[in-house]
Amino acid sequence: MKNDSRFYRCKTLQEALYHLKNVNNLKVYSGGTSIKTDSNPNRLDIGDDCLFLTNCEELKRIEKHERYITFGSSVTLQKILDLGKSKIPDFLYEAIETVANPIIRSRATLAGNLCSKDFYHTLYSPLLAIDTRVEIHTPTETKQVPLSKFNGIENGQIMTTLRVPLIEWDIAHFTRLGFNNEICDVSSSFTFLAKTQKDSLTDIRIAFCGKIKIRSTELENSILGAHLPLSHKNINMTLDKASKIYDAEIENMIKKSLMENPNAEMNQELIQKIENAKKNYHPMIKEQFLNLLRMNLEKLM
Ligand SMILES: Cc1cc2nc3c(=O)[nH]c(=O)nc-3n(C[C@H](O)[C@H](O)[C@H](O)COP(=O)(O)OP(=O)(O)OC[C@H]3O[C@@H](n4cnc5c(N)ncnc54)[C@H](O)[C@@H]3O)c2cc1C
Repeated sequence: MKNDSRFYRCKTLQEALYHLKNVNNLKVYSGGTSIKTDSNPNRLDIGDDCLFLTNCEELKRIEKHERYITFGSSVTLQKILDLGKSKIPDFLYEAIETVANPIIRSRATLAGNLCSKDFYHTLYSPLLAIDTRVEIHTPTETKQVPLSKFNGIENGQIMTTLRVPLIEWDIAHFTRLGFNNEICDVSSSFTFLAKTQKDSLTDIRIAFCGKIKIRSTELENSILGAHLPLSHKNINMTLDKASKIYDAEIENMIKKSLMENPNAEMNQELIQKIENAKKNYHPMIKEQFLNLLRMNLEKLM
């Protein structure tokens, strides 16, 4: 931690926004469980001035409505589990249970899980699949964004609320790859939701998150409305599409991060960099994504 880092706390959102307006590069934390120690285990690796939302009562609210439930960004994962399994979608409940351990869950939040940089954490895929909407505040504006359009939190923004739809699914499956209770390089999470009516598939959601984030309307629409039971041909076509979408997503992500470097150009050097960067995405993870997708599609046979 740099010696002159300053810590801010707030009791109200208004106070939080005041600090955000007046302090440059203020880093916002909800539970703060992502903060690591640096090479000296007695020091926190924080860097910038930071604002902790932990004491902000209005961000600790949970409001249950008929079709959705809202969580303030300071609601801890443990508080959500304490609501009981019947109050939130089962697959989300199960996903939260796999995050870290009870001590960490008593501080960690959904907002922190979604706003973490450079990695889509365990709860991203269930919240993305279910079309969660997040509310983002800056000192001058408030906006509600579907998670599918959320491109990460920017400097000067606070995620204040998450609105989670409550929908009944005929098939709801969450699973994670890598170890439970910790995040490592190969950690990923997969969520599959499907609704059926008589002999057709009326809704389907597929989300896979980790180093990359996949939720594709093109993929979902390609099978939406399909006649049930699904045929082998239908499943193979969907897997083929999923495989192409996965590869394209990796390529896009790598290109985007390389293009953010102002010196990068689409030339031989950049192409080589893309090929090298692809090695960071272990092919085993793609295989597992496709296996999980196949396994869930086969439930519709
Ligand atoms: C031992 C251990 C095990 C873990 N296991 C898991 C695991 O299994 N799965 C998993 O997903 N994670 C795991 N984590 C990581 C972390 O605990 C979780 O991702 C947690 O949900 C983060 O929530 P938080 O509120 O503590 O986030 P914070 O640490 O407060 O913040 C995380 C990031 O989000 C930003 N941020 C937080 N809140 C806001 C906000 N309201 N507005 C704007 N930006 C914000 C912060 O600036 C930071 O960049 C683990 C951590 C530890 C220490």
